[in-house]
Amino acid sequence: MTENSVEKIPNAEINWATIGKKWRKKWSENRIFESETQSLKKKYFLTVAYPYPNSPQHVGHGRTYTLADAHARYKRMKGYNVLFPMGFHYTGTPIVSMSQRIKSNDMELIETFEQIYKIPEKIISSFLEPEKIARFFHEEIKQGMKEMGYSIDWRREFTTIDKAYSKFISWQFRNLRKKGLIAQGSHPVGWCPQDQNPVSQHDTIGDIEPELIEYVLVKFKFEEQYIIPTATLRPETIFGITNLWINPHINYVIALVNDEKWIITKEAAKKLEFLNMNVSIISEMHGSNLIGKYVFDQLRKEHLPIYPATFVDPNNGTGIVMSVPAHSPYDYQALVDLRKDVDSLRKYNMTVDIVPIRIIHTDTLSSNESSPAESIVNSYSIKDQSDPKLEEATNKLYSDEFHNGILLPDIEVIGNLSVLKARDTMREEIINKGIGTSMYELKNAVICRCGTPCVVKLLTNQWFINYGDEKWKKLAYELIDNMEILPEEIRQEFTNVIDWLKERACARKSGLGTKLPWDNEWIIESLADSVIYMAYYLLSNHIRNDSDTQNSGNKICADDLGDSFFDYVLLGKNDSHLVAKESKISVQLLEKIRNDFLYYYPVDSRHSGRDLVPNHLTFFIFNHAAIFTKDKWPRQIVVNGSVLMEGKKMSKSLGNIIPLRHAIDEYGADSIRLTMLASAEILQDSDFSFDLVKGIRSKLFEIYRSITIHKDIFTLSQNRTDHIELEDLWMSSRIQHIISDTTSAVEKLRIREALHSILYLMDNDLQWYQKRKLAKNKSISNIYLKEFFETRIKLLSPFAPFFCEEIWEIMGNNSFISLASWPEVDDSKNKLKTEDNERLIQDTIIDIHKITKVTKMIPKKIMIYTASSMKYKLYKKLLKRIESQSTANFGVLMKEFVNDNEIKDFVKQNPELVKKMIDDILSESLEVRCRRTKIDSFDELIPLQDARSLLISEIGNDQLEVNIFSEDSSDKYDPKQKSKYARPFKPAIFIE
Ligand SMILES: [Zn+2]
Repeated sequence: MTENSVEKIPNAEINWATIGKKWRKKWSENRIFESETQSLKKKYFLTVAYPYPNSPQHVGHGRTYTLADAHARYKRMKGYNVLFPMGFHYTGTPIVSMSQRIKSNDMELIETFEQIYKIPEKIISSFLEPEKIARFFHEEIKQGMKEMGYSIDWRREFTTIDKAYSKFISWQFRNLRKKGLIAQGSHPVGWCPQDQNPVSQHDTIGDIEPELIEYVLVKFKFEEQYIIPTATLRPETIFGITNLWINPHINYVIALVNDEKWIITKEAAKKLEFLNMNVSIISEMHGSNLIGKYVFDQLRKEHLPIYPATFVDPNNGTGIVMSVPAHSPYDYQALVDLRKDVDSLRKYNMTVDIVPIRIIHTDTLSSNESSPAESIVNSYSIKDQSDPKLEEATNKLYSDEFHNGILLPDIEVIGNLSVLKARDTMREEIINKGIGTSMYELKNAVICRCGTPCVVKLLTNQWFINYGDEKWKKLAYELIDNMEILPEEIRQEFTNVIDWLKERACARKSGLGTKLPWDNEWIIESLADSVIYMAYYLLSNHIRNDSDTQNSGNKICADDLGDSFFDYVLLGKNDSHLVAKESKISVQLLEKIRNDFLYYYPVDSRHSGRDLVPNHLTFFIFNHAAIFTKDKWPRQIVVNGSVLMEGKKMSKSLGNIIPLRHAIDEYGADSIRLTMLASAEILQDSDFSFDLVKGIRSKLFEIYRSITIHKDIFTLSQNRTDHIELEDLWMSSRIQHIISDTTSAVEKLRIREALHSILYLMDNDLQWYQKRKLAKNKSISNIYLKEFFETRIKLLSPFAPFFCEEIWEIMGNNSFISLASWPEVDDSKNKLKTEDNERLIQDTIIDIHKITKVTKMIPKKIMIYTASSMKYKLYKKLLKRIESQSTANFGVLMKEFVNDNEIKDFVKQNPELVKKMIDDILSESLEVRCRRTKIDSFDELIPLQDARSLLISEIGNDQLEVNIFSEDSSDKYDPKQKSKYARPFKPAIFIE
């Protein structure tokens, strides 16, 4: 359906707001998404990263939750007792800093609230209290989730500042500390100098996780009293240094750094201060003053020249770079450029007679190359040092040398070592000899939400979770190796993160959250209190946070929660009578809570966006490995890509943020859900647009109409003794096919593929079926159509739940489709021949159209000849031989067949035909070939004769005569001897 026709459809047929409201009410009244322990039913426990309530949800937030909900609904229909709960993450500084921005009357923030999210002024003024912000957006997000139709068990809802939750997190932290996984000490962290706080992904603009790198600083002597330090990630290349690079256009400073006089950039001096070095600036100097002079290399005891290079960035390292032209494409190219730069050479009175020193061997480069950097620069045809291809060349060479490189044998200390080993050895060597030190820096530019660029700070007395612990890493690998990751291609990203994770700051001095139990000055930060809370969902409905005993019911009071309670319920430790007494609850209740945990845990599926792979999801793995027994380790992680708006990243500055609830008001939840899920496969970024939403909505109208005009078939009793025609068998078989394809796609959460077949491919089937019936003048109100529609609506219902509930009711059902069974394949309805029957008819119509188009004939008589039985014999033999091959050897096959008594004469006389039949088979999909090998005999006359009326109506007028003959028939009309061209599944056609 085209976009233009959309607006012509009367919208009155479906009132999205009304059906949304109607079904939300019915679901809630009947409590169909509330899940309780049922010993006889298999459970499925599915969770999504809980939202951070510092703004309403916009369209971009919806994808992960919608995917998780569709997954939950699918599993529910598959017969599982599904638990899908939700909580709210208040922890951390962003909500607090937001209230500070309101206090300081930050117009940008206030305008965002007023103009994008339409929040009344009165409410904004209450945002001076951080908790008011959180409560407001919490309710807003929750309402949006309900309007989206998420099948959540809301009885288990909590926030991370609830008293009971804090008790739970305190228990988690004491547990980690007992296991020796938490320590205090000096460690580098990403840091906001303005807020005086460590920063992680949640605190930065664009949600960027700060990544730290550790340079080796190599100290070169300059004029006896000074040090010129260069920062490198490749200390193993130190024996290949030929010169240093200085940027002649920038200023440097002489600074006293821990009693040495260093020449570095001002920017570097600032960074060193945060790394707890004593830095005071003595004087400034211009870069050009250093050009042409020499430094002393303390390792090799030789003098090296300082040359000018514009690629040197004052913000990177110390602002001075060591040059290894044999192995660094930038260094090599800068030397080439310098040799041509006559002006500079004259100005600084220099000559450049550098020979690159090769120190690393790889198999990919021939051993006589003197400079691998030179060869790669030449192969990329690089023009000069500003050429962007230089970056690509550098990455390629570095990666190749890192993975395959060996240091040349005659190199001191590190000769014959791999690059990886040599790097570690040289780092130690340089630091131990006192000719260098180390320096941390941010790998990426990270800006705090307050607007300040972040730095690396060496924090003292900071509390850390030690993700670098080798034993712990091993457990994390074991966990992930036994876990399903969807899609599988993202697994490598997880193992990389486990590889590089080290100590991580886990507490802050400000923000909302739980105090560190043994050091009350600190508050546990948001990526540390969100890693095992999935277990808390199984407790939260049994706990009350208020101490009001009036409405206590059969619940445990937060004040009475102690470690013994969590130890018993989550780890099975301690005696139940003792724990019940301490917790002031009955043994019965305690055991009920323990049973709930045993029943629902572990998590069967954890859903999250891809941006949480390097932090939250990996911490989730680590912490489960540390705290829980192996049978309680999570079973699956599902990761999805993000959402673009009309091809662009959503951002305030682009003004393309659409609040989710506004979109629901405008278009209804189902169309929004389908657009989010259908526009991309799981890991890709989906491209959301309202044109797509409109297109999908009109598709839903179409489905609605196609079903409502056949309303009677759902209520009237059907006559099963109807004569069963070929197209009925086909339809029945197609339904099985669709169920099977859709189910396997949904199992792997390939939702785009599933929706493509439900929304679009099923229409092709329906149209064909109706066409076939119509040509025979037969009524289409029948049991097959009923089965088709019921199947379609069931398959669609996890994705468009309101719409499908409404139709399910129109179909005369008194139950919820949300609780109906997912369609199962009925093998008895799978008829192999039906697919080839209908395809033969479709292909024949296409072929006739082609012929009449080319010959410009108006046909009066059409003769269709099906292949001889001998050709079928040959076809079967060929099929058997090349069933799953992508090519076939004609000569070999011929040799075989001329010795086969059944077909040898025929084959000898018709080699060309054999060739054509081989091509016919190779052009078919494996699925088709496999099916045809299973068919014993196939008579093309049957379907073609059955479709005679359709052929006539499709090709011409009622006067058209269509005759169908077998090539074998003796009384066929074949004036032009066309029948000999017939091949199996490719009948010959003759038109008069
Ligand atoms: Zn800041």
